[in-house]
Parts: sequence; structure tokens; C-alpha cells
Amino acid sequence: MTKVYIGLGANLNEPIAQLERAIDALKSLSDSHFVGCSRFYGSRPMGPQDQPDYVNAVACIETSLTAETLLDALQKIELEQGRIRKNERWGPRTLDLDILLFGELQINTERLTVPHYGLCQREFVVYPLLEIAPHLELPSGDKLTDICKQVPLNGLTPIQ
Ligand code: ATP
Ligand code: CA
Ligand code: CA
Ligand code: CA
Repeated sequence: MTKVYIGLGANLNEPIAQLERAIDALKSLSDSHFVGCSRFYGSRPMGPQDQPDYVNAVACIETSLTAETLLDALQKIELEQGRIRKNERWGPRTLDLDILLFGELQINTERLTVPHYGLCQREFVVYPLLEIAPHLELPSGDKLTDICKQVPLNGLTPIQ
């Protein structure tokens, strides 16, 4: 089994309920075991500012799925929760599920970059991750605690 961290985000159609439903879906993933989830956090949108604030969290699972098969499953959950893919980058969405870390693996394929390329810059990723994995080291050897020192909170607020 591989320990995997997944970033969850939503800013449309009752984002808290979207995240709760997504967590239920993660609990039902095949060949996987749900480990836990951070609190939910309110965050400012990246990119286009003419959209609602986000609700974000980070979940941990253990899985024997491959990273590609897990991505398929996560994209299926996004679609089931009404994700509509538009051309606008970082536009509003009912649900976004990103693979942040897949064990110690480093993946660079057409479909997958792991660790997620935005992991070390995004406050709504590093702080929820720190909450559930305070001693985490990235495959690069960098300590998550050190990364967090470089990332401003930018209004990130726990909401439950
Ligand atoms: P960002 O990737 O900057 O967070 P986004 O989440 O809005 O932006 P999406 O439209 O959800 O981007 O995803 C675009 C593509 O990113 C997906 O089709 C997927 O193939 C690819 N991708 C690459 N690496 C990952 C990863 N680690 N987790 C999820 N998707 C990934
Ligand atoms: Ca817009
Ligand atoms: Ca994303
Ligand atoms: Ca995504």
C-alpha cells in the first residue's frame, strides 16, 4: 500500500457539502483505505478573482492502485459532482481533486506531475497537509515545516 495525499477544493454549489461528499467517495475507493482528512479551510481564489472563495482540505489514503488509476478514479468523482471543464485556467469549480504526493514517487508523464507542481507554493495545500502530516518530508528531502515558513497564509482560515 502507498500513502497518498490528495488536495480537495471547491467553490461552487455548497462547497462544504461538495467536500463532504468527496470524502465519502474517497472512503469508498477500491483497493484503498481512508486514513483521514484535515479540517476544512476557507481560501482566496488563485487566478481569476471574479469567483467565490474556496473551501480546501487535504486527505490521506493508503492505496494499492497505481497513480494513473487513482487519477482516473478522482476525475470520475469530480465529474459525478458536476465538474465542468472550461478553458479558463483556475476558474470556479464544484470539485477539484489533486494528487499531491504518491508515496515517495516522482512522476512526470503527460497526465501526471507528482509531487503536484503547486504543492510548495499554495497555502491551502501546505497548511492542511501540515495539520495531518506534521513530520512529512517531501521526496526532495525538504521538510514540510520548512516549506510552510516560506508560504504566507494569505487569509487562509479554518472553518470547522
Ligand atoms: P492546478 O493543476 O494548477 O491545480 P487545476 O487543478 O485547475 O490546476 P485541472 O483542470 O483540474 O487543473 O487538471 C488539469 C490536468 O492536470 C488533469 O487533466 C491531469 O491530467 C493533470 N495533472 C497533472 N498532475 C496532476 C496531479 N498531481 N493531480 C491531478 N491532476 C494532475
Ligand atoms: Ca472568470
Ligand atoms: Ca488544483
Ligand atoms: Ca486538478
